[in-house]
Parts: sequence; C-alpha cells; structure tokens
Amino acid sequence: MKCKKCSGKLEVYRACRKVAMRCTLCNQEYQIHEIASELDQQTEELLERYSAIIYD
Ligand SMILES: [Zn+2]
Repeated sequence: MKCKKCSGKLEVYRACRKVAMRCTLCNQEYQIHEIASELDQQTEELLERYSAIIYD
C-alpha cells in the first residue's frame, strides 16, 4: 500500500482498540474503511491478523 499524498509506504498500526494505516513518510493516517477497496494482497494478509477488531 502506498500513501495517496506522497507515495510513501503505509504500515499497519494499532491504536487503542482500532487498527489503521499510517504513512511512514508523512504520517498521514488512513482508516481501514477508507482504503478497503484498494488494499493489496500483502496488506490484506497483514490485516487478517487484526480482523477481529478492524470493523467495529
Ligand atoms: Zn505519505
């Protein structure tokens, strides 16, 4: 996954009781539901580990 602003790499991070994506370059945060239609295979597999708490 790449950032829409700067094309930096997005990483999954967990904050409190939610999971989101964050750009490693500009720190732009993305909610999972915002980018759900654009998730790539690698990111989906990562998110599966958090699947119980992604969608609240
Ligand atoms: Zn960025």
